[in-house]
Amino acid sequence: MEFINLKAQYAAYKDEIDGAVQRVCADAAFIMGGEVAELESSLAKYTGAAHAISCSSGTDALVLALMALGIRRGDEVITSPFTFIATAEAIALVGATTVFADISLSDCNIDAALIERAITPKTKAIMPVSLYGQCADMDTINAIAARHNLAVIEDGCQSFGALYRGKKSGNVSTIGTTSFFPSKPLGCYGDGGAIFTSDDELAARLAMLRNHGQSARYEHKVVGINGRLDAIQAAILNVKLRHFDAELSRRAELRMRYDRLLAKGGVTVVGEAAKSVTAQYSVRVKNRDRVAALLNAKGVPTAVHYPKPLHLQEAFATLGYTRGDFPLSEQAADEVLSLPFSPFLTEAEQDAVAHALDEAIKEAAC
Ligand SMILES: *Cc1c(COP(=O)(O)O)cnc(C)c1O
Repeated sequence: MEFINLKAQYAAYKDEIDGAVQRVCADAAFIMGGEVAELESSLAKYTGAAHAISCSSGTDALVLALMALGIRRGDEVITSPFTFIATAEAIALVGATTVFADISLSDCNIDAALIERAITPKTKAIMPVSLYGQCADMDTINAIAARHNLAVIEDGCQSFGALYRGKKSGNVSTIGTTSFFPSKPLGCYGDGGAIFTSDDELAARLAMLRNHGQSARYEHKVVGINGRLDAIQAAILNVKLRHFDAELSRRAELRMRYDRLLAKGGVTVVGEAAKSVTAQYSVRVKNRDRVAALLNAKGVPTAVHYPKPLHLQEAFATLGYTRGDFPLSEQAADEVLSLPFSPFLTEAEQDAVAHALDEAIKEAAC
């Protein structure tokens, strides 16, 4: 059983993907070009944001968003400590300081009620993460940001396609970002990402920054980065985007089926089926490491997203946080377990996971 069945996905779209890649090779337009322009216009239409700017990864999408907003040394950005390292890494890379606020256990997203007390005169932005494919409480977060004149950057690296009160992830804040890392809901065959905004000025800055600050050939208005998406990845994404909504429907069916299979107890599912694209199907369970080892021994692959919250990472030791500072993030890090999931998971595999999990929980308790 695969944890995320990318091989089955490739087999399903093989002819289209092979054809798209071969066209790029034949055209020899490998950087930017028609495939990238087509993707950006499709992504904007899909999210409803006025602009989509493709880029080299989800991490660079976050860095570029911070750069476009002019966030730098001396500024503070508030985010969740229970996320992938890239969220806080991006803040550090522009020289700003990360300030963490704890999560709520129900969805493992930043708890909007804890944000306001983390705001100081140095705060410039709030960066909520849409963990496992579900947006945080964006209405409350946007209202706090408006009161304090802050930008909101959605780290939507796991949530492309998710709906928040009728709006698509990426289009629920000042700037939204996503990642096309292969295992994300919309993945390419390497690294890739995108930034979304409906602010024309920010969009123009983002497009310049991701291409060496270039406004016209060899005219560099600002210092930027090489953050472009390549044409082969764009061509693959153009194919996959056509199948994406069908995949989201299948994700929703399989998500609800897991929820039903696991309802008899022993685990708490993170988040809500109706709000999430289920980038990861994650549950909280006692004796997590033992349960995971037993599952692995029974042939069920698992993952932990994430075993150590960022405030306890050595890379952020200089921020001065210690164990106990964000108890719910620490509890989540000890309890979360991601089960095999993708639109290509079979129902037989799902039944086998549910059965093995039931046994593993009983065995781990004794
Ligand atoms: C994957 C991920 C990123 C980084 O995306 P890359 O494309 O791997 O650089 C950032 N934040 C979160 C929450 C992610 O899951």
